[in-house]
Parts: sequence; C-alpha cells; structure tokens
Amino acid sequence: MGGNPILSQEATEPASGADRITPAQRSRNMARIRSKDTVPELIVRRLLHALGYRFRLHVASLPGKPDVAFPKRKKAIFVHGCFWHSHPGCVRATRPVSRAAFWAEKFERNRERDTRVQAQLLDQGWNVLVVWECETKEHDKLKAQLKAFLGPVRVAPGVLTC
Ligand SMILES: [Zn+2]
Repeated sequence: MGGNPILSQEATEPASGADRITPAQRSRNMARIRSKDTVPELIVRRLLHALGYRFRLHVASLPGKPDVAFPKRKKAIFVHGCFWHSHPGCVRATRPVSRAAFWAEKFERNRERDTRVQAQLLDQGWNVLVVWECETKEHDKLKAQLKAFLGPVRVAPGVLTC
C-alpha cells in the first residue's frame, strides 16, 4: 500500500524524496494507495463471508461507493485507512512534516467527503459502519462488531440475503 510519505520529525529540506516526485507521479501514487481491495478491506470481506453474510462491493449507484453494501438491509460498511482518513486519536494517523499544508488540505478534503457521503447515505435510509484499518487486526472483536451492526445472517427462516 505504498507506505506513508515522509514522517520525519526533523525539519525537512526541499531535497527530500517526497518533494522530488512530480505532481503526476504523486497522483498516480495516491490513486494506487486509494485503490480498491486494500488488505484491511479484504480482511473485512473474508470475515463477513466466514460469518455467512452475502454482500455487494463498491455499488456505484450509492453515495461514496461503499466498500461493502447490503442492499436489502440498507447497510453499508466503509473500511478506512487510519492515515488517509485521519482516524481520531490513532497512532497511525500521523501528520507528514514535509509539505504540511498540502497534506492538511488533502486530509481535510478526505474528511469532508467521508462526512458528506455518510450523511447522504443516512438521508437515503441507510445505516453506515466505519471499520478502521487498526480495528482489522483483532478478528474476533471485529466479527462481533460486524454481527452487531448487521443483525442475523438469515432474515427469514432459510433465507440468506445481502
Ligand atoms: Zn486507527
């Protein structure tokens, strides 16, 4: 997943690696980092599958194309990287020292988009769960969280639904 950009606590001069890449390269890097099927996302999908849930991925017609969607339940799950989505209070949500203004703006845009997308889904009658990257390390705890959010696997006797 590309790793994080320069995180040094020292004042970083313009010759740092991060500053040598061009905007186009940076865009490509960002696109790759933000791409689908990240490891935390795959963990969530694997656990949901093991629990017996059926689901849709990246439904384009929904606000924010949720990572996992359950159309009949009207429930959506976003799996957020702690760094990119600024997980409050999380050690992974570090702030790059180099080009601080660029990153501050980037993080702010991400935060605004997350808030807007979740509000749009709620307006449409959906429930939303955000699973943070750091929460995907404890599988038993995460499974319990997913079950509590989604409810029973079978919504009617013998009927599986997504
Ligand atoms: Zn976190």
